[in-house]
Amino acid sequence: MTDLAKYPPFDRWHDWTELDAKAWPKKVERKYTLVPTTCFNCEAGCGLIAYFDQETGEITKIEGNPEHPGSRGRNCAKGPATLNQVYDPERVMHPLKRVGERGSGKWERISWDQALQEVGDKIREAFLADRRNGVMYHVGRPGEDGYTDRVLKAWGCDGHNSHTNICSSNARIGYQSWMGHDRPSSDFANAEVIFLISAHLESGHYFNPHAQRIMEAQARGAKIICVDPRLSNTGAKADFWLPTWPGTEPFLLLAIARLLVQNETWNAAFMERWTNWETYLTEKHPDRPVEFSQMRAALLDEYAEYTPEAAEQKTGVDADTIREIADLIGEHPTKFASHNWRAAGA
Ligand code: SF4
Repeated sequence: MTDLAKYPPFDRWHDWTELDAKAWPKKVERKYTLVPTTCFNCEAGCGLIAYFDQETGEITKIEGNPEHPGSRGRNCAKGPATLNQVYDPERVMHPLKRVGERGSGKWERISWDQALQEVGDKIREAFLADRRNGVMYHVGRPGEDGYTDRVLKAWGCDGHNSHTNICSSNARIGYQSWMGHDRPSSDFANAEVIFLISAHLESGHYFNPHAQRIMEAQARGAKIICVDPRLSNTGAKADFWLPTWPGTEPFLLLAIARLLVQNETWNAAFMERWTNWETYLTEKHPDRPVEFSQMRAALLDEYAEYTPEAAEQKTGVDADTIREIADLIGEHPTKFASHNWRAAGA
């Protein structure tokens, strides 16, 4: 009798033996080499381990990788289902070139050398004719952090198209503009207040590693605020569910920001260190000295219309709840983590 284990111990991954479940009730032992890999069925990029059968050389199953620092062996169902993609009989394994009319479904297999040569020739032709925008690159889901974009920019092309040009693009452009990275991971693990605009705690597959930390933080006592018109999984798990009228979310955010400034519970030191308040004062309040001490009054002027009562009218969230949320955030100025993605972000 042995103890149940969640995963094979790491030091035995190179040579792991287990019983073949399909051979039951016979007890047939199979020897595996466990190879770490990455799931790319969404951008969370969770860790996986592939079980290579040492006898047949085939992968017989795929499981979560407990050593992966992000996903820690906890995957959604799509991760282990990667096996179906590896052995899908319709998987495209080689470059194919259309030989019939467009839409006729006729293709022939060509070599990689031929594919690269033909594609390279066409790109060159467009460049020589000064048709930079005759070159377009389409990728389903970009799995790297900007390298391809840099190549396209070096070529003078503005032709990157992908799933992410539309999906979540508003959230991405916001993040990219102010922190230079379009898929940030807030420090949910250490947060005391977590503010989510969108349904990504559980229902958004991108955020599996986030969701794990968010749930752990909540179990430790962190409060979760979810702004989502739907009673999503995130809303159902949250301490506060704020179902704003779609499109009114910025009003709610400004009302909360106004209360933080008014109550002096905003993180002024952070604002002074990390925002362009000098530019803001110079451009928007030229009558005021360019001193940080002016910011509170300047922001209260700017945000004057965003009272809790006005926000209630606009968003449908009652004024007292907005005050309660602002108080909660104000009590934890350095332990606040947020994320915005689809829904209000897109
Ligand atoms: S959340 Fe699911 S689909 Fe996304 S990378 Fe992780 S296992 Fe794969």
